[in-house]
Amino acid sequence: MKALSRHKRPKESVPIARPAQIVNDRGAAPPVQLGAIPPPHPGTPEVLWSGPPGTQQFAWTVDDGYCQSCIAEYVAFAQSSGIHLTLNPNGVFGSLWAPSVVAQVRDMAADRQVQFGNHTWDHQDLTKLSSTEAARDLTRNEQWIEDTFGITSRPYFRPPYGFYNSRVLSVAGELGYTSVLMWNGTFGDATLETPAQILGLAEQWLKPGTIMLGHLNHTPILSLFDQIQGIIAARNLDPVTLDEMFGTSRETG
Ligand SMILES: [Zn+2]
Repeated sequence: MKALSRHKRPKESVPIARPAQIVNDRGAAPPVQLGAIPPPHPGTPEVLWSGPPGTQQFAWTVDDGYCQSCIAEYVAFAQSSGIHLTLNPNGVFGSLWAPSVVAQVRDMAADRQVQFGNHTWDHQDLTKLSSTEAARDLTRNEQWIEDTFGITSRPYFRPPYGFYNSRVLSVAGELGYTSVLMWNGTFGDATLETPAQILGLAEQWLKPGTIMLGHLNHTPILSLFDQIQGIIAARNLDPVTLDEMFGTSRETG
């Protein structure tokens, strides 16, 4: 069944996810043509806290990236496991993305296994910046993602620290970031955690409808991928990208 609608979704003023029509359309879509960047579609942002009900989907999202081995090993894990990820990296750490890792990610992005969201260039609290500065932070990161990976991060924007206000939403919306990505589950590893803490949070939060927050910042999670995969399999969960969860596409942006 070929089904993900490319029509613009109706915007809602409350963070309620829509029911999904399709659980999984994997394998049906042709590859993304890297380098073909759609124009921005400005609009009123919608804040997303969870996935639609009624599926086994969860979205594994991974932010920041100030640990080079974390980037490389997360990407290698995605490639070996086939698990779908959404990456929200900050371009200020771009030198930590080795060319071979970038090449792997581009292949997986073309295959719709990996997707990007915009987490800004250097991870500042946007509520403390002027509108011009906030727009520059988003635009600079978008340009880095496009130049490096050949794909747009629009319409997804994850505010650093989850901090936003009406002005930040307005700036984001004008740039085409109409889906503001929050989360309702976390591995807790924005800062250094023990493996036991991370596994406990995985047990707690990995369930249908979760937007799971992870980070490319600290190494403890790297030794837990097998166990996390075990939880996913035991619960029959379907790890998906945001496009798969919310019916957006890289062609539309
Ligand atoms: Zn972050």
